[in-house]
Parts: sequence; C-alpha cells; structure tokens
Amino acid sequence: MIVYFAVLGVVFLELWMYTAEELSQLIKEKRIDQKKVIETYLKRIKMYDDTIRSFVQIKEDYKIQDGDFSENSFPVPFSLKDNIMALGFRTTCASKALWNYQATYDSTVNGKLKNADAILIGKNNMDEFAMGSSTENSAFFPTKNPWDFQRIPGGSSGGSAAAVAAGLIPFSLGSDTGGSVRLPASFCGVVGFKPTYGLVSRYGLVAFSSSMDQIGPICRSVRDAALITEKICGFDGYDSTCVKKRTSLISGIERNTKPLKCAVIKEYLDNTDHDIKSLFDDNLKLLKWAGIEFDTVSFEKHDSVLPVYHIISNSEASSNLARYDGVKYGLRIEENSIERMNMSSRNKGFGEEVKKRIISGVFSTSMTNYREYYLNAEKMRQKINIQLNEILKEYDVIISPTSPQKQYKMGETTDPMKYYLLDNHTVIANLCGFPAISIPMGFTGDLPQGLQIIGRKFEDSLVLNVARTVEKKIGVFEDGIYPFPHLEASVK
Ligand code: GLN
Repeated sequence: MIVYFAVLGVVFLELWMYTAEELSQLIKEKRIDQKKVIETYLKRIKMYDDTIRSFVQIKEDYKIQDGDFSENSFPVPFSLKDNIMALGFRTTCASKALWNYQATYDSTVNGKLKNADAILIGKNNMDEFAMGSSTENSAFFPTKNPWDFQRIPGGSSGGSAAAVAAGLIPFSLGSDTGGSVRLPASFCGVVGFKPTYGLVSRYGLVAFSSSMDQIGPICRSVRDAALITEKICGFDGYDSTCVKKRTSLISGIERNTKPLKCAVIKEYLDNTDHDIKSLFDDNLKLLKWAGIEFDTVSFEKHDSVLPVYHIISNSEASSNLARYDGVKYGLRIEENSIERMNMSSRNKGFGEEVKKRIISGVFSTSMTNYREYYLNAEKMRQKINIQLNEILKEYDVIISPTSPQKQYKMGETTDPMKYYLLDNHTVIANLCGFPAISIPMGFTGDLPQGLQIIGRKFEDSLVLNVARTVEKKIGVFEDGIYPFPHLEASVK
C-alpha cells in the first residue's frame, strides 16, 4: 500500500497520519468529517490490533454532537489507559481483581475531554495496576511493540503507546508513577509527557502510589502534548493535591529558547547501553551546533533513587490496594468466613508482581520496620530533591536518554533487578514532582529510542518549549511526516 506520496513537494497524508492538533483543526474547519475520522481509526484497530493487542475495550457506539464546534473544542478520537475511569466503560487495571468493574463515575480528565468534544473510543492494555515496565504484567495478554512484534512496548502504559505508534489512535492518556508514560513512549517512538505533580487532577485514576501518580498524554508531537495537557489540567476540588495555577503551554511553544543550559547526568550515561548512548551523543552534537549548551554534572545520590522509589511506591501501593478485599467491588471468591473470602479474593485477583509489591510495602511500613525503611526512604527522597534542585538552579533542564536499555524480547528478562533498572532515568521526576517528557531521538537498528527532558516544578511550559526546539533540530518529524512502523507488510 502506498503510505504517502509527494507531488510537486506537497505531501498528502492518510487521515490517520495527522497529529491530534491537525485533525482537530481539520474537523473544526469542516474540511473533514468527524465521523469519518473515528471510523478510520476503528477500522485500523480492527485491522491491526489482533496482532498488537494494545486495546482491552473498544466502543463503536460512540456519540457525536451535531452542529458547530467551539474555538476550544478538540473533537478527535482518543483512548485511555485502563486505570482511568470513564462512564460507559469498565476500569480493569488489566487485573483479574477488576476484570468486570464498571466505572461508576468519570475521571476529571475524561470529563474535561468530553466537554471539549473529544470522543473516547477505547481503553488500553497496561501492566496490572500500573506495576511494570513492559506490559507483560497484564493479567489479560501482553502488548507487542509495533516496531518489532517480538519485543516489549515498554510499560506500564504500553497499550497506549503501542496504539499511538501504530496509528490506531491519535492520542491516549496514560499514568506515570515512575516513568510509565515516558518509557513506553520512548520504546514505541512517540511522545510522552508527565506534567508537574499536581497540575492534572488524579480524580478517577486508580491509585498506585499517590504521592507520585500523574496522568499525562502519549501522542505524536510535542505540540500535541502541550495542547492535550492544557485541555486536561487545572484545579479540581476532588483531588487535594491539585494546584490552583493558570497554565498556558501551547502559546509560547515555538519561542526561541536560546541560550539554553542543559545538564547531562554523568552517572546516567555510565549506566546506559552503548548503542543508546552513542545515539544520544550524536543528538547532543546536533544540538550543540544549534547553540544549546551542555555540561556533564554529577548526581551523587543516583544509587539511592531506585531503592527509594520502590520502598515508597510499594508502601503506598500496599495501602491503596487494601480496598480490593472482595467486599465493595471487583472479584469475590465466596468462602465460609469473611477472612477466608478476603484472602481468596486477593489471592486469585492479584498477579505475581502486584503481590510482590504489596508484601514489600507491608514489610516497609510494619511497626518494627517503618523507621528503618519507609521513614528513611522519605528522608532520602528529601536529599535527592535538594540535590536535583541544586542542579536545576544552575541549569534550565536535565537531559538524558529516556531508557538505559533497549526494548528486550518478550519473556527475555527474568531478572527483576534488570527489569527495575529500566526506570533508572525516569523515576527522579516522580520522586521530586518535576515535569518530564520523552521525545523520539532516532533509531538503534530498527528500534526507536527516546530522549528525556526534565525541568523545574511548574516549569512545564519551559520543558515543552525545549522539547519542541529539540524536536525541530532532531527532525524526526521533518515535513510533518511521522515515522510509522510498516504494519501492512507484517500483519497477515
Ligand atoms: N515501571 C515502574 C514501576 O514498575 C513505573 C510504573 C509507573 O510509572 N506506573 O514501578
């Protein structure tokens, strides 16, 4: 099939190749029909998702509004990671514990997108309760990387990233507790943005680690990331950590950001796969020519980051997941006492990774251990915060590869330490609440890799602005043509 063709320098794209921003504009100007756009995506999902398996639910009986769209409308189809509530859909968290749980209210983000006339057409696969980096921990099925079906798409928002990369949806919302929006975006060759903690309401997001969870967009351009975040952010009385702040992200995005000072963390590069590191170095050279300054800095506490992240996130998770006891909702295994019913429901409902984390969290917060583990981890989190804020006093942003390792083959990694190391470069943003984005920086062989930009709290617009500058220089999206994997040939 001809993917696109150029005549006299004009490039004609197929409908599904447009960014969400372009689609929205075309629909609002009535140059294309909203229904036709939605049908195009649904058709592609039917064609390719039996292979990629990025969706766990699809809705074909969507409702579209009659009449004109307003200036603020964003009438494009989208999908949600299946831990974000939407009326009319189940919220399974890719867990047997919630396999049949029907959402009883709308998340704030879904409500906001609904008000902007966006159309939710499906829910995406994920690692169970967002615990993982590969989407292999879904209780239903693993999702495949559209660039290589034998490899992982990253996680835990792997379904969202794979769907966007394959052109099955223009954008999706994921959740990022330790890198779950950025890592799969990097592994699938798309853009993933985690806003500052508190900028986007978590109301209706199933809690994993409440002090770090944040909802963010997975899409195909930095402009889309800014636009979508602008649509979903804002104060919400239903989330006590949501801040009152006016946020303008798209208006200054094309601004010239020079002169910029970027910090590259030495210890991160020391721990990065050779191919990724050399791709990253090539990109730095390109950016240096463009006048962006880089210094290599040392981050002494880098060794503590993953242990601190796991102690805190597991502790919070063990408390958050206590509610799945077979009483109020979700899977219930009948037994002859309430204790046995609780035990069997949890035992049958949760998968291995989730159980492991609950056990670890209960251990770290138990009466005899909490000082040594939980409290110390929180103290160390403060020290990490101080050290990174010192770096960010001197530099505008911190730049690194998004992942230290390449996409491995499904089932290949049985070593949990290696698996957890996939989050090595991303978790600092969650521990400190910083905004962070992953954008494509090119390919190692046939596999896309991402570049991460982290900024100061509430400087989301600067992070997006730098990302847009870098995106233009790297030129992965040159002429507006986004590199899509060639699914036509590989999907039988
Ligand atoms: N991969 C990380 C973990 O397994 C992060 C998950 C997330 O951001 N939801 O904890």
